[in-house]
Amino acid sequence: MSDNNLTNKAMNIKSHRLSKKEIDDNFSDLHAPLSAIEALIEADRCYFCYDAPCTKACPSDIDVPGFIQSIRSDNLTGAAEKILSENIFGGMCARDCPTEELCQQACVRNDHEEKPVEIGSLQRYATDSVLNNGVQLFSRQENTGKSIAVVGAGPAGISCAHRLAVLGHKITVYDAKDKLGGLNEYGIAAYKTPNDFAQQELDYILDIGGINIKTGMQLGKQINLEGLQEKYDAVFLGCGLGTVNKLNLDNEDISGVVDAVEYIANLRQTSNKDELMVGKNIVVIGGGMTAIDIAVQSKLLGAEQVTIAYRRSKNIMAASEYEQALAKKHDVQIQYNMSPKLLISDDSHVTAIEFDVMKSQNDGSLKASGENITLKADVVFKAIGQKLVTEGLTENNSLEIEKGRIVVDEHRKTSLTKVWAGGDCVLDGDNLTVSAVQDGKLAAISINETLTQGA
Ligand code: SF4
Repeated sequence: MSDNNLTNKAMNIKSHRLSKKEIDDNFSDLHAPLSAIEALIEADRCYFCYDAPCTKACPSDIDVPGFIQSIRSDNLTGAAEKILSENIFGGMCARDCPTEELCQQACVRNDHEEKPVEIGSLQRYATDSVLNNGVQLFSRQENTGKSIAVVGAGPAGISCAHRLAVLGHKITVYDAKDKLGGLNEYGIAAYKTPNDFAQQELDYILDIGGINIKTGMQLGKQINLEGLQEKYDAVFLGCGLGTVNKLNLDNEDISGVVDAVEYIANLRQTSNKDELMVGKNIVVIGGGMTAIDIAVQSKLLGAEQVTIAYRRSKNIMAASEYEQALAKKHDVQIQYNMSPKLLISDDSHVTAIEFDVMKSQNDGSLKASGENITLKADVVFKAIGQKLVTEGLTENNSLEIEKGRIVVDEHRKTSLTKVWAGGDCVLDGDNLTVSAVQDGKLAAISINETLTQGA
């Protein structure tokens, strides 16, 4: 939240709402890691199912019963190898994957005990072991003489870069920011990744070598797709989404109306969370993970009243049941069928926001019911999704874009011969770290096949 967005006139917005100690406690690890004995007990609950449904439900194809079996045999390096060979960000995914909707939801233990094997916690247990002990599981194959540009140092880009580096290619990663990590570094709630875990994991991944990093390089400014295609044998686009959608309300630029993504990034980068400006009455507009993240974090920073206002009904909210329950556990109110209508301000600072109460029609569309609700707000967070920035991408070429995203096939190949893409910037991307990592992996496999076998 930039200072000029919070005027002195907005007396309710201030820092030091809670003490440093209270904030440190609030932002400590969301779940404590498993102890060795807890991990063994949990691993013992696995049935090691044939054709395991948990593996089928994992977007990155991790052999779940395989790695749990290794934990059971006290072979943590073997367990981590099974995880990281499919998903190099296995440590972060163990922390931020919606396991309750993916592998754990598919676990057959749900039928027997209404409680799945804690696959996410076991994955963290195994991967933390190699990261904390600096056990490098990967090495580079002989140099192929091929060079590949990767745009974006987030989960998709770095996953692609790592796999290609292992295969012996020379990689150059370009990123607009000065610090690597993309959403893992800037976009995931601070309480999910304490102790600088994102950078620790990144250091481990880049330790493989063969990956040249160029920061401060933005598409449309210092680099463009045309130039990269000329210079490299292949290009992977993992550039994410660069700009936030607007509410499309009249006076949206007034003070106190804030981009949630930007605030979360500031929260992740600051070393003094107690000095962040925090509102008293906060309204979050949106229904995805970003909305939940900013709402919960606002509460943890000391906001008094936090309400998420979502346009549609509960059952189609993008945030999972688990995330919604987490928000409610932190006293965040969630109100459904609320469409923002009017920002009310005093001296150019937001003081309230009025909503149309929406009604779903038989054809699934929404219609204003005629009823209005006004919520007091000194900060309104916009968390209504982001848009692809096409500068530097679409000039002088035929890169296919649909619904504002890059079109790719099942190998993550775009409409351009030398260009692949993955993560949030592609059509049908689902905003999950694990899916971005899988995109990067599949693209790397396809790029390697194309460059070495002419596939
Ligand atoms: S579904 Fe559950 S019990 Fe079966 S292999 Fe996966 S984790 Fe183990």
